[in-house]
Amino acid sequence: MIPKINPAYSVESVYLKYFERLKNESFQGNIEYSYSSRMAVATDNSVYQKIPAGVILPKNAQDVVLAVKIANEPEFASIKFAPRGGGTGTNGQSLTDWVVVDLSRHMRGITGLDVAKRRVHVEAGVIKDYLNQQIKPHGLFFSPELSTSNRATFGGMISNDSSGQGSLKYGKTSQHIISVDVVLLDGSLVTFAPVSGDELKAKLDMENMEGRIYRTVYNIARNKRDEIINTFPDLNRFLTGYDLKHVYDPEIDTLDISRIICGAEGTLGFIVGAEVDLTPVPSYRSLVVIKYDSFDSALRHAPVLVEANALSVETVDSKVFNLAKQDIVWHSVKDLIKEVPDKTMDGINIVEFAGWDNELEGGRMKALIDVLDAELGSAGNSRGIIGYQTCVDLKDILAVYAMRKKAVGLLGNAAGDAKPIAFTEDTVVPPKHLADYIKEFRALLDSHGLTYGMFGHVDSGVLHVRPALDLCDPEQEKTLREISDSVVALTAKYGGIMWGEHGRGFRSEYGPEFFGGLFDELRKVKAAFDPNNRLNPGKICIPWGNDVDHLVSVDDVKRGTFDRTIPKEVRQSFRAAVTCNGNGLCFNFDKTAPMCPTYKLLGDRRQSPKGRAGLTREWLRLMELAGVNPLDEEKKLDEPGLRLKDLFTRISNTLSNSQSDDFSHEVREVMECCLACKACASACPVKVDVPDFRSRFLNLYYGRYLRPAGDLLIKNIETATPFMARIPRLLNTVNGLTPVKYMTKKLWGFVDVPEISYPTFNTLVKNTSAEYLDLEKLSALSAEDRKKYVILVQDAFTTAYDARVIADFVELVEKLGRIPVILPLKPNGKVAHIRGYMREFARMAKSTADFYNQVYRLGIPMVGVEPAMTLCYRDEYRKILGDDRGDFLVQLTQEWLLDNLDAVKSVADDKKAGLKEYYLLAHCTQKSLKPTTHGDWTRIFDKAGIRLVPVPVGCCGMAGLYGHIAGNVERSKAIYKENWAPVFKKYPIEQCLATGYSCREQVRRMEQVTIMHPLQVLNKLL
Ligand SMILES: Cc1cc2nc3c(=O)[nH]c(=O)nc-3n(C[C@H](O)[C@H](O)[C@H](O)COP(=O)(O)OP(=O)(O)OC[C@H]3O[C@@H](n4cnc5c(N)ncnc54)[C@H](O)[C@@H]3O)c2cc1C
Ligand code: SF4
Ligand code: SF4
Repeated sequence: MIPKINPAYSVESVYLKYFERLKNESFQGNIEYSYSSRMAVATDNSVYQKIPAGVILPKNAQDVVLAVKIANEPEFASIKFAPRGGGTGTNGQSLTDWVVVDLSRHMRGITGLDVAKRRVHVEAGVIKDYLNQQIKPHGLFFSPELSTSNRATFGGMISNDSSGQGSLKYGKTSQHIISVDVVLLDGSLVTFAPVSGDELKAKLDMENMEGRIYRTVYNIARNKRDEIINTFPDLNRFLTGYDLKHVYDPEIDTLDISRIICGAEGTLGFIVGAEVDLTPVPSYRSLVVIKYDSFDSALRHAPVLVEANALSVETVDSKVFNLAKQDIVWHSVKDLIKEVPDKTMDGINIVEFAGWDNELEGGRMKALIDVLDAELGSAGNSRGIIGYQTCVDLKDILAVYAMRKKAVGLLGNAAGDAKPIAFTEDTVVPPKHLADYIKEFRALLDSHGLTYGMFGHVDSGVLHVRPALDLCDPEQEKTLREISDSVVALTAKYGGIMWGEHGRGFRSEYGPEFFGGLFDELRKVKAAFDPNNRLNPGKICIPWGNDVDHLVSVDDVKRGTFDRTIPKEVRQSFRAAVTCNGNGLCFNFDKTAPMCPTYKLLGDRRQSPKGRAGLTREWLRLMELAGVNPLDEEKKLDEPGLRLKDLFTRISNTLSNSQSDDFSHEVREVMECCLACKACASACPVKVDVPDFRSRFLNLYYGRYLRPAGDLLIKNIETATPFMARIPRLLNTVNGLTPVKYMTKKLWGFVDVPEISYPTFNTLVKNTSAEYLDLEKLSALSAEDRKKYVILVQDAFTTAYDARVIADFVELVEKLGRIPVILPLKPNGKVAHIRGYMREFARMAKSTADFYNQVYRLGIPMVGVEPAMTLCYRDEYRKILGDDRGDFLVQLTQEWLLDNLDAVKSVADDKKAGLKEYYLLAHCTQKSLKPTTHGDWTRIFDKAGIRLVPVPVGCCGMAGLYGHIAGNVERSKAIYKENWAPVFKKYPIEQCLATGYSCREQVRRMEQVTIMHPLQVLNKLL
């Protein structure tokens, strides 16, 4: 039995008092200091980990003002802060031991859109892609691009001065800021924008913190101008912290403090909002994907491509796109980046032409293609070009960029203990030196025997490299330090810098070396804003006059320091939780994307794959500290039999008040909220499969505490359902009675129990040619006869609760010229797995797999209609049984139909009149584990001559039994209202189709309409 575990880190009383004061002073946002909330912001995408004292999540600017003012009271003088947005920093910029101020949850307001002037005001927590989605109808967008655009906030983008693809034309964030609203450390809310003349004079005369800031920066910017110009490299990428070069324009004597705030990495003030300028959406966009025989050829060709007047030139090496090939992302680009026959493609350049003059841009693209054709046609193709492809369709262009944007995450999915890590991933050198610089960089990494993948913005000389290191090995931490130092020297040699895109963070220790004499001036700027070093202390610089505090260093405490205390075999076994690298892709705001419904609904970072993985990792670590190995505990739970002693201990643990501060409860809370929809298992670049470790956690947790009563029903539901299905009318009548509904909710915790199908499945298929055959009878069929049959692999729920769909499948099989076979029901075990009944699930899986393997050997296709159940045989069965699973295959309906596409005829002429188009809402597990789902069904419908439009949609909120559990019902409905309800406003509901039983059930509950499975449309129309 696992022990009660208490995190050793309690919150110091001064923080508790501070949080209490905030509450009493009507702070409107959230104040969170549970261990799980603190852990949720203890990491970003860097190698570092810091557990803060608490997190405050302001509702508005006034909350931030209040938080600062109270912190300025003498008793709270020791409290320090780090602002945080999406938490996607790669260098620990937002990590702190003190208080995190997370502006991303609530401060998402967009106001004052002025289409004519092309400007808008955003609060600090607005996500870039969200803004662009809102303003798209006006033909505008915020143009600086970044890979994390679906989760990074304006606060973070301004603070890191973000930019990416297209930066030569679209620039950096700082170039699009009209003004920025900042809460300073005296509690004042000020707006910084360019000022000159009398206005500047008035600012310089102010007797407050704002005035001090203006005076300090003005004096430095003017008096040190030459030194600044000589120190700041002449690159397209500006420096983070602090941009003294662009803060002042001597020609017009204009000071723009917003340029210092941009790139300050949260060390000068809290950004609460900004007015930003917008760019018209280009009317023309096209891509040329050029393929090379080596990465070096791709790099050396880049300057030529820039001269072709392209918007951007992005490069990707073979390591990255080979990883992409194994990811869900590949199916959308595989036709856009095809292999070249008889050639090895070892690098690509993605060249984009974009603009507002279609003829001009089209001509530029054509000119490049002519050059490429000439190169390819010439005998002495000296540039290593082996081919190219073009795309002009926006959908295709976005698909190629989605692959490129996922590159960092994909690298994180490398096999083995060493994982590509961020510490030298954004170096920049003048583009003309890039190829030579990379040659030396490669030699450096090779000399350490490291593996790495490379990609980047070659047009501006930015290279993304993440060498693979295992930081659980202390020796490899030393390698990190050695390489860091060498890269600083190498970039300097080529006139570049180490932090060219992602900010300085824990690399701040290199600041003095880089800035030389100017570094003191940076410290004076810091002192003007933050004399007591309270804001993100240690990052960028220490305030002038403070000789006590230190800069943070690359040697600071890393995640590996914590992770290495988890035994290696446990880390490997819980690989999915341990390898989360915090890139934050699971914070994607887009409601039409499957990932992650609970995070999207709740906005609570704990309720995301990253949150769940992080908590599990910490839980494993604390278990080890408590001297318990979870793998041993799992083995004990695997042993058969009911141990009375354990039962009594569980009862006692559940009832005892002293158990209330067990950290396992916090982990359980976030695990119980997860829908087990599996979106993370495929959409996360490193395949953090939460449902997998969630079930294992629940298994262990409920080895210590009593389960909810409803679990006892769930455990036996698969065996009980077929019996219940025999008396549908009686059970439906009884279950419909108000007192029974009440008792079902109170006793078992279930609501809205669905009705059992009447007529039953057996009645519905009575007049079909379906045969009920068992293994013996099937084996007796001749090889020739077997070819005529198709086996329906039933699952208890669909057969009992959605009999019409299964019966329609039987009829469809008949129509396609085959004889349907109804195999005896075998428990699937998915629901037991979801509830963490691992021993029972293993037993069911073994028995079912043994049986299906025998059937499979007969060579008759086996088909399951319910996608989640069918895919369980491939996914959860493989994980629990390993090689014992065997090689049986139960096909999804669409897979079987595709195999028999020839048999699918076009809709008959008499049915063609008034034929409608249909809309497909596919099950999220199916989309995740079978990414071709939309395309598969579209092909099948095309063959039948019926138009099918796939609708991008997130989870419906039902997820099997999840939406029927009383504690989940509100969340389940809210997820439906956000993700699915809008679809039915857009499309006629009777033309919408859903592949999942749960999804159809949810629609039935919420809309009182029964929608069809796509196979039912085929059955009706064929
Ligand atoms: C896979 C991956 C790819 C990336 N690609 C790019 C890229 O193409 N281009 C690029 O520029 N960056 C990139 N980054 C880095 C990072 O995503 C961006 O810099 C992003 O803008 C950070 O935004 P955020 O909201 O996540 O900020 P956070 O990580 O939360 O914070 C970043 C910094 O901003 C400060 N901050 C945040 N909000 C505020 C506020 N309201 N007031 C004051 N300070 C604040 C924090 O203290 C911290 O110093 C990438 C990161 C990852 C993981
Ligand atoms: S769970 Fe996956 S997507 Fe989310 S932060 Fe971790 S690695 Fe990234
Ligand atoms: S299974 Fe679904 S709800 Fe659970 S963490 Fe993964 S994406 Fe989120």
